[in-house]
Amino acid sequence: MSALHPRLSSLMDAAPVTAGNYPCLILNADYQPLSYFPLSLWSWQDAVKAVFLDRVDVVDHYEQCVRSPSFEMQMPSVVALRDYVPQNRTPAFTRFNLFLRDGFKCTYCGSPNELTFDHVIPRRLGGKTSWTNIVAACSGCNLKKGGRLPKDARMHPFVAPFQPTMHQLQAQGRRFPPNHLHESWMDYLYWDIELLA
Ligand SMILES: [Zn+2]
Repeated sequence: MSALHPRLSSLMDAAPVTAGNYPCLILNADYQPLSYFPLSLWSWQDAVKAVFLDRVDVVDHYEQCVRSPSFEMQMPSVVALRDYVPQNRTPAFTRFNLFLRDGFKCTYCGSPNELTFDHVIPRRLGGKTSWTNIVAACSGCNLKKGGRLPKDARMHPFVAPFQPTMHQLQAQGRRFPPNHLHESWMDYLYWDIELLA
């Protein structure tokens, strides 16, 4: 696969930013994305390799081809793993996942701006840094609440903080699409999106 199709170079500028150019979306054996955050992508080189090793089925492809003296194939844009990878992991307690759980908005006033984290029960009163005590809060609300308990500050989260499941985060993830998407991915990322009349 040393020689690329000549048309390939003219299309480079339209390529997404992750997993190099011509990234390939990886679906689990049930045709759900293997992961939303980060979106499961391989470089086209890895995808082509997996095709040759019979580890994946090609679901969709780019128009561009890879060529060598002995073969030619269209670069895969979506592949599905042949073996199912179990998805019952607990989501990591990360900044991104926490914002995702709370829908990228302040859990006190709903603002999406200047998001920070708030300990619902302040640390000085024994509040833990955990899924069940941290919420997304705008810096204004964070400042206003200060180190007080919700009842003292008269500020209560819209939703009590909770440990989300992977399924819940993935459902949230569909509401916040990544910026760079190839059209052939849409069916697999947004299959449950409401259809427009
Ligand atoms: Zn706020």
